[in-house]
Amino acid sequence: MLSYWEQDIFKPKYDYLIVGAGFSGLWMAYFLKKQKPKAAIAILERGTLPNGASTKNAGFACFGSPSELLENVKEIGWDKTLEMTQKRFEGIQIIQQHFGELIDYNACGASELFTERNIFEENLSQLELLNKNLSAMLLNQNHFYEDTKIISESKFEGFQYAISNAAEASIHSGKLFYNLYKTLVGQDVKFFFGTEVENIDTSHKTAIIKTKNLGDFEAQHVCICTNAFSNLFLTAQNIKPGRGQVLITKPIKNLPFNKTFHFDKGYFYFKNVGDRVLFGGGRNLDFEGENTAEFGTTEMIIKKLKQHLSDYILPNTDYEIDHIWSGIMAFNESKTPFSEIIQPNLSASVCMNGMGVALAPYLARELAWEMGKVEK
Ligand SMILES: Cc1cc2nc3c(=O)[nH]c(=O)nc-3n(C[C@H](O)[C@H](O)[C@H](O)COP(=O)(O)OP(=O)(O)OC[C@H]3O[C@@H](n4cnc5c(N)ncnc54)[C@H](O)[C@@H]3O)c2cc1C
Repeated sequence: MLSYWEQDIFKPKYDYLIVGAGFSGLWMAYFLKKQKPKAAIAILERGTLPNGASTKNAGFACFGSPSELLENVKEIGWDKTLEMTQKRFEGIQIIQQHFGELIDYNACGASELFTERNIFEENLSQLELLNKNLSAMLLNQNHFYEDTKIISESKFEGFQYAISNAAEASIHSGKLFYNLYKTLVGQDVKFFFGTEVENIDTSHKTAIIKTKNLGDFEAQHVCICTNAFSNLFLTAQNIKPGRGQVLITKPIKNLPFNKTFHFDKGYFYFKNVGDRVLFGGGRNLDFEGENTAEFGTTEMIIKKLKQHLSDYILPNTDYEIDHIWSGIMAFNESKTPFSEIIQPNLSASVCMNGMGVALAPYLARELAWEMGKVEK
């Protein structure tokens, strides 16, 4: 039961209540505050820290690798693929403009690496078309190009070919979370960590949000930002969770690269974090097993990551693994997030399909703008 003091400060009535303190929820609060500085906003988060993907990820502000984009074209067509790429591109600029100096933002670009000539050539043959279509949307940015130097410069073995782009960036996800959090607290956004939302009733003018341990909250508008854990509230969206496993090495002397890398259609990804190597992925080795909302690592995937690390990325280098962990992503068949106002007192920005670092700020900015216009 709340005391008088607690009730007075942490009133259970808000203009906007956001469920989930991952990047989607934090950016949503950030852009709502920009629009409506006086609005009373609170974020309800079930974890004692965010507990999904945002502080568990690899910290790539993903633009998309050529093979991922070309795979998307096959699945959802050119228009949707280009639209999503443009959103990520703008999302990367938003991150840089608002927090770039605070989050180890590195406009390092990315390289996709290939071991097999035929797969590389398949991608290369489509590059001109890909660049032409991207240029039509993203003005004069030079996108993908064959990179003949990066493999030898980085001292990789096994990888034979590379396609690079300058659009992708690397960030420190923990610092982005912390700086968003600090900014929001400074703007009087209330945070309720350890507060799980069990039910949202939007059948009346104001929404009633039932929590497991803090009773009911009331809001003029509630925004669901629970990504992979959204099926409780948004059954029709049919969102599937997908686990990602990651490892990081201890510092390595004279590490020869400073960039983000992808291979195997983006299922594997690595980058340097200072003089360490962060390496993750391998969901494609066991889709069924990794189609889970349970955190945890598996011997099979971690073993494969270590093997690739030794064979391809750090051949002839002594290294030690410092830490391994996992996070949970969200996927759907359309490969596109669900980000919209559902009714005047309810909206959602969920299902980031494994690329939410850059998507979340863009989608939050657009949705907050629309929400700000909704009559309360
Ligand atoms: C291992 C890994 C690597 C990744 N690497 C990258 C990358 O390099 N680049 C990239 O673009 N993307 C990457 N992603 C994906 C990216 O991290 C996500 O798309 C993005 O963080 C999603 O943000 P979100 O806020 O929508 O979801 P989340 O960060 O998952 O936040 C949802 C929050 O909602 C909370 N929540 C859930 N249910 C409830 C409830 N009932 N009540 C209250 N709170 C609740 C959860 O605890 C969680 O904190 C990666 C993900 C993983 C797991």
